[in-house]
Amino acid sequence: MSTTATSAEAARRELGTTFAGELIGPADGSYEEARALFNAMIDKRPAVIARCATPEDVALVIEFASTHDLPLAIRGGGHNGGGLGSVDDGVVADLSLLRSVSVDPETRTVRVGGGATWGEVDAATNPHGLAVPCGIISTTGVGGLTLGGGLGHLTRGYGLTIDNLIEAQVALADGQHVRASADENAELFWAIRGGGGNFGVVTEFTFRGQPVSDIVGGPTFWPIEQTEEVLSAYREFLPTLERNATGFFCWHRVPPAPPFPEEIHLRLVCGIVWCIVGTDEEAERAMAPMLAIGEPLMHGVGRMPLPALNSAFDGVYAPGDQWYWRADFVDEIPDEAIARNQDWNERMPTWKSGSHLYPIDGAAHDVRSDETPWAYRDARWGQVIVGVDADPANAPVLRDWTVGYWEALHPYSAGGAYVNMMMDEGQERVQASYRGNYERLAQAKRSYDPENLFRVNQNIQPAA
Ligand SMILES: Cc1cc2nc3c(=O)[nH]c(=O)nc-3n(C[C@H](O)[C@H](O)[C@H](O)COP(=O)(O)OP(=O)(O)OC[C@H]3O[C@@H](n4cnc5c(N)ncnc54)[C@H](O)[C@@H]3O)c2cc1C
Repeated sequence: MSTTATSAEAARRELGTTFAGELIGPADGSYEEARALFNAMIDKRPAVIARCATPEDVALVIEFASTHDLPLAIRGGGHNGGGLGSVDDGVVADLSLLRSVSVDPETRTVRVGGGATWGEVDAATNPHGLAVPCGIISTTGVGGLTLGGGLGHLTRGYGLTIDNLIEAQVALADGQHVRASADENAELFWAIRGGGGNFGVVTEFTFRGQPVSDIVGGPTFWPIEQTEEVLSAYREFLPTLERNATGFFCWHRVPPAPPFPEEIHLRLVCGIVWCIVGTDEEAERAMAPMLAIGEPLMHGVGRMPLPALNSAFDGVYAPGDQWYWRADFVDEIPDEAIARNQDWNERMPTWKSGSHLYPIDGAAHDVRSDETPWAYRDARWGQVIVGVDADPANAPVLRDWTVGYWEALHPYSAGGAYVNMMMDEGQERVQASYRGNYERLAQAKRSYDPENLFRVNQNIQPAA
């Protein structure tokens, strides 16, 4: 009998009566669906997928993996580019049953289960006129996105997702369940705000809700040939923009579906995706300087509830595509980098591929670089390059384009990358991303997870 089958049986035997959730092994009919990750390029076969129904279940799974010396992965939304929510021949603590969201409008606090998705948070908060800053695709998990930092449409106005985290309930490697906040287990609270799933399993997050309901948002696209004109204007324009407004820069092919006009379907474009919290007049004033640049092909901007913008691209990026990721932080965009960006995007291999420059100034700059592990507070953008396609046969092409593009632009970058937008790229890249905060993270790791049980992640190794 294979080790994998043995582990699944051992889990059923040892956890069977006390475990409230569901245990899924390779022999079960639901195994293929349960092991599938958002990124179909990653194909992992865990020995046991333990769908935890309670925080006690999480503690049982941690103990089981530790006792049997099995690798343990934590699965929130399963979106991680490198597939770090799963592991071959090990145990997956799958949090997808822990997805409740409750909102207290009086205190403006939002409690979220460790396996919820951002769409579920948006659906619960928007009726109260509140929002938690999150990412740009609503199917992404709250767990991984938050613990790695959290970049999105509200970053300039309200900071990273971690800047809105008030407390977390954490199951530690030794089975203890603790509260981490500014006044309780403060070092753990520091470490989880950017340090990923290195320190324990977060079974519940408590966030501060921000007063955002409707926004003015959507894309403006220019022909890719106008990249030089548009991006050189944008790099000067962004720092002058009020915090209530943002726009991330992108290169894409126009998706071949409504609401995009048919005559520009699949056209290579550069663009800005706007999100402005304010009146229509304020939004027009904010965007005006950029709309005067070049000749936009499309200006598809309008008023909508924030959740509509946060889910606008869910249809294009449904689960099951092949993804290859690379990222960098960017301080400045010199002319030569603009030319290289245009050149590589003109060679975009598939219509779902592209690159984004996410602004990380504004409120994200109010927090010092050592106040949380998220060390690149002084950078102005996080750039991500993604090769994406439905066809597995295109995987090598996606990888080659993404890596080639990244290598061409990396010399103009600030150094490390946002850990949530990397593949599994090794220790050097992890250390570069945490910069001067790595040593403190390694000390915290030694206190909370000295055996490195939580190592299926952008790993921080316990200090010697
Ligand atoms: C289509 C798409 C769009 C994206 N857009 C954005 C964006 O706009 N902004 C942004 O910041 N990021 C974005 N991301 C990146 C995203 O933040 C990461 O992929 C993140 O890892 C996803 O979290 P998850 O819970 O879905 O992932 P999973 O694969 O489930 O987990 C990822 C990692 O987080 C850990 N983890 C997850 N939940 C917990 C928990 N409760 N406790 C402890 N550890 C946990 C896991 O151990 C694993 O190492 C995007 C990703 C995709 C695929």
